[in-house]
Amino acid sequence: AADVEGVPVGALERHAELAELADEANWRYYVLDQPTVSDGEYDAWMRELRELEEAHPSLRTPDSPTQKVGAPISTDFTPVQHLRRLESLDNAFNPADLAGWQARAERLLEADPGPYLCELKIDGLAIALVYEKGRLVRGATRGDGRIGDDVTANVRTIEGIPHRLAGDNVPDVVEVRGEVFFPVSGFEKLNEQLVAAGKAPFANPRNSAAGSLRQKDPRITAQRELRMIAHGVGTWEGTPLPKTQSAVYEKLREFGLPISDMYKVVGSLTEIDEFIEYYRQHRHDPAYEIDGVVVKIDKIELQRQLGSTSRAPRWAIAFKYPPEEVNTKLLDIQVGI
Ligand code: NAD
Repeated sequence: AADVEGVPVGALERHAELAELADEANWRYYVLDQPTVSDGEYDAWMRELRELEEAHPSLRTPDSPTQKVGAPISTDFTPVQHLRRLESLDNAFNPADLAGWQARAERLLEADPGPYLCELKIDGLAIALVYEKGRLVRGATRGDGRIGDDVTANVRTIEGIPHRLAGDNVPDVVEVRGEVFFPVSGFEKLNEQLVAAGKAPFANPRNSAAGSLRQKDPRITAQRELRMIAHGVGTWEGTPLPKTQSAVYEKLREFGLPISDMYKVVGSLTEIDEFIEYYRQHRHDPAYEIDGVVVKIDKIELQRQLGSTSRAPRWAIAFKYPPEEVNTKLLDIQVGI
């Protein structure tokens, strides 16, 4: 094709091969909730894809796995169009990546991007909850970011998700984003039960959360020990949106939504690094699995100015810890069944 003129055949073929592998893995991971390759392997494919696209930008087409979020939804649920796009997060793996992210934000804003909100990256799946006049009217998965699966009935069974927001001053419409997850203890119990029943266990708590939420029969979801923590908002209409991410969290807490008490607002890269190091050492303190730390620019006005790329906001970044071995072991068991 004309748009790939000049790209060596080897690079073209390798790109097509990796894109196919990644698309297939996305489908197994996001739609079937049963991945067959480790996250490490998947991440390596994505890294190679990005490197190829860096060297040959014409390969970076809108349908490349590097430009997309999640996977197209399954046909088992009613599709829901999100009020605003749900995004993924760009990754940082070391302090230099983080410093690069901060410097880019500073350059684009022509101002100090601080302060920064540091929080745990919960290894669950994204959910969007829509409240109208304080009443929960819809719950949907992220899907491909624009269209998700309608899981309203399932979401209503999750302990801690209010069916009605508390207080008199709730927005007319608010879309609360958060993470649905399986507490670690519940995950182990569930896998033991599945194995005892001759069924395949889940590879990790994230897949078990996704598999448990996306059940056609909400009574099964109700039996699973799912929890949710809010970590953002989309649409917010009718009352003034607080001016910082942290103030949004405190507002949501007043409304009765579950908010982490392990987030911290800090002023410098050094303090961000300290937060990351602290939780690297205390990774198993929370009752749920974490796979890193998310750093967000706290001021909403600066978030607006920075906006997003095709798949992730420029005002946030995920610092990823290395994957843990236990996932691989479980994956071996699962693939063996
Ligand atoms: P991600 O999980 O790396 O990060 C984005 C998500 O983080 C958001 O959508 C949000 O739901 C979540 N999140 C958790 N805590 C948050 C917080 N405090 N604030 C904001 N967001 C928070 O991105 P992704 O696109 O969902 O998944 C990509 C990753 O999934 C890959 O790096 C890979 O590890 C894994 N994956 C694996 C396979 C496989 O076959 N093994 C396939 C596809 C994806």
